[in-house]
Amino acid sequence: MKIDILTLFPESFSYLNSSILKRAQESGKIEINIIDIRAFSLDKHKKCDDYPFGGGAGMLMMVQPVYDAVKSVLDENATIVMPSPSGKTLNVESVKQLSKQEHIIFICGHYEGLDQRIIDIFHPMEISIGDYVLTGGELPTMVIVDALSRFVSGVISEESLKEESFSSGKLEYPQYTRPADFMGYKVPDVLLSGNHAEIEKWRKKQAIEKTKAVRPDLLK
Ligand code: SAM
Repeated sequence: MKIDILTLFPESFSYLNSSILKRAQESGKIEINIIDIRAFSLDKHKKCDDYPFGGGAGMLMMVQPVYDAVKSVLDENATIVMPSPSGKTLNVESVKQLSKQEHIIFICGHYEGLDQRIIDIFHPMEISIGDYVLTGGELPTMVIVDALSRFVSGVISEESLKEESFSSGKLEYPQYTRPADFMGYKVPDVLLSGNHAEIEKWRKKQAIEKTKAVRPDLLK
């Protein structure tokens, strides 16, 4: 899968070069390119934002540099994604859908957002990561890239995905590692018993109880 990220702040993306995402890129499962929108500005000072027509607070990202940046990476297989508070809220289903795409172009808004004509010209998928407003589309893009990468074949084991929260409409059961006793806080006996059938039964029950307690809406 190829991912192109268009941004005014390329330095924000170092997170994508660590841990699992780093390995996914090194093994060629995902290619991530960070593209500086400013490089496409035709303005002699490389200006990329301006005041909104009609007045109002803040600055908007100008249409020309963003248009040219998108055109520089666009091909017929590309899905364009624009993180936006106005988008549909991201969930495990939309993440899975995105993970099947061949090529995704992310347009990161900043300041008050983007000139509406970018949306009118390219009709991007607008995706929100929740009902709150962030200063830019860089963090939402990293959230979406991280979440979808987990479903790209070979990035993490199938086994991990199967048991994960939301995979079967439930949250994950509690997990423990060594030591078995930490200052009197003990790991449940069943997990030390070696009885796999009992362990599975316990985990299923815990997952349901936890989901009932904190996210009863998932069980409906
Ligand atoms: N003026 C816009 C509004 O009221 O909807 C908010 C713009 S926000 C300050 C700047 C950029 O951050 C947006 O263009 C978008 O890329 C990103 N952003 C902010 N909150 C977001 C959210 N909840 N989900 C996805 N992207 C978000």
